[in-house]
Amino acid sequence: ALGLSWTLDWIRRSGAVIADKRVELITLDRAIGDGDHGENMDRGFQAVVPKLDVLDDDATPGDALKLVATTLISTVGGAAGPLFGTAYLKAAIAVGSAPELDGAAVVALLTAARDGIVLRGKAEVGDKTMIDAWTPAVDAAVAAEAAGASESEILAAAAEAAAAGAVATEPLVAHKGRASYLGERAIGHRDPGAQSTAYLLQAAADAAQ
Ligand code: ADP
Ligand code: MG
Ligand code: MG
Repeated sequence: ALGLSWTLDWIRRSGAVIADKRVELITLDRAIGDGDHGENMDRGFQAVVPKLDVLDDDATPGDALKLVATTLISTVGGAAGPLFGTAYLKAAIAVGSAPELDGAAVVALLTAARDGIVLRGKAEVGDKTMIDAWTPAVDAAVAAEAAGASESEILAAAAEAAAAGAVATEPLVAHKGRASYLGERAIGHRDPGAQSTAYLLQAAADAAQ
């Protein structure tokens, strides 16, 4: 099962990958948005990582997720701040005060995160948003858990599906967010929020290895 150390490792790896991919995410958002997605996400995660040091040793995964939520909500801004903030908040609520997460809890975490984004942003699969990465990830996690996969296998399946989901946004017209103003001109460009979602879920899988 995955405990606080996995959660902290996931968040630290998220900070590292978002910093590493900052320019790529800016470039994606420049093509179909306002070019700030990499900066927004990097600002948020660089604010989160030092705060992890103030968590007690007996803090739970849910405590760490809540810290991410409140920090992203107050620092990321734009569309992505409230959406990812809600995702981590709903994930924290879903895992409750459990010290360790088994496969079912990992699925519950991912499902609650995705449902929170949908509740807030009302996007459906195919709207060319981060939901196009989150929903295939949740579906893959559910299927893996049902097949008896371990927590790390569930997260690996989710990460792989999210990455494929991000690529699959390229031929789409957007129906939510700034990219929706572009109509057909959004075709051929990958959605930045779907790509950042894929990186965050890959970080979760890597932390579970
Ligand atoms: P902004 O568009 O305000 O500049 P960001 O650039 O940080 O914010 O984030 C843009 C991303 O937010 C998009 O790539 C898309 O994935 C996501 N997004 C925008 N609107 C929605 C929505 N209604 N539901 C889900 N995701 C959305
Ligand atoms: Mg933007
Ligand atoms: Mg913006």
